[in-house]
Amino acid sequence: MMISPFIRPRRLRASAGIRALVRETKVLLDDLIYPLFLVPGQQVKKEISSLPGCYHLSADMAVAVAREAYSLGIPAVLVFGLPEYKDECGSGAWDASSPVQRAITLIKAALPELVVVSDVCLCEYTSHGHCGLIKDNQVDNDSSLEILAKVALSHVVAGADIVAPSDMMDGRVMAIRQALDAGGHSNTSIMSYAVKYASAYYGPFRDAVDSTPQFGDRHGYQMDPANVREALREATLDVEEGADILMVKPALAYLDVVRQVRDRFDLPIAAYNVSGEYAMVKAAAAKGWIDEQRIVMETLTSIKRAGADIIITYHALDVARWLNQ
Ligand SMILES: [Zn+2]
Repeated sequence: MMISPFIRPRRLRASAGIRALVRETKVLLDDLIYPLFLVPGQQVKKEISSLPGCYHLSADMAVAVAREAYSLGIPAVLVFGLPEYKDECGSGAWDASSPVQRAITLIKAALPELVVVSDVCLCEYTSHGHCGLIKDNQVDNDSSLEILAKVALSHVVAGADIVAPSDMMDGRVMAIRQALDAGGHSNTSIMSYAVKYASAYYGPFRDAVDSTPQFGDRHGYQMDPANVREALREATLDVEEGADILMVKPALAYLDVVRQVRDRFDLPIAAYNVSGEYAMVKAAAAKGWIDEQRIVMETLTSIKRAGADIIITYHALDVARWLNQ
């Protein structure tokens, strides 16, 4: 008779060294993208109250923070902007003198090796706060595409390495790809917010960029949190339209979606550890209710374990400091 051995998985948990050897998922500095919020002016570095530890930065000060990120080993930043002015069509979004465009140029001049990803959307720039143009009180898809393509091109002309459309209009990846190619930028990548849910987790971000819609909500273009088959359809379309990287946003409440997108597609997958996820950790840590470092590392590990290659996170600077210890 065969006597089965007494299996002892605890052997491989016996010491920190053994645990490190058999660890399946590791969050690396190379995985991280750090978001920056650009505002008009000079010498501005003002903490965002709903995102403690994150700042509204003028273009000059953004260079200093980007340098800090780069010197810590973070390979990329993602830039968002608040414009000097807002109007119906969001024209500040493609204005070469807007904070985002100026910051992209300054950061690339100072830190050519740092990857600059630019968020492409209209909601920070439109007076109504929606991500596209308004026609008959509705967000109009097709007329928005031309504008979004113009915005993306202006970021690339300013020096962006990757553009990241976040508006969720149908067909925008194709429109942006065509505009970039026609402008001689066929080597610039598109990181598509392919699967972006209409989430309550964006609350602190909307305060940060002053982009709360003035009427209605975003359920007409962002996805229903209940849907995952639709997520795969969205991702399929963006792959067909020429996306180079697929993003799922938010991350933590959508880890199953990250996993399904990972299993279905060979493109790199990014996940956005969004402002609400960050703010909840910060608030609980400030109360002394959780161990911030352990919670953050556990969360980011879960995002990577779910299948993300890239994690966009407001924790990036802290994580880099911890990893470099
Ligand atoms: Zn938007």
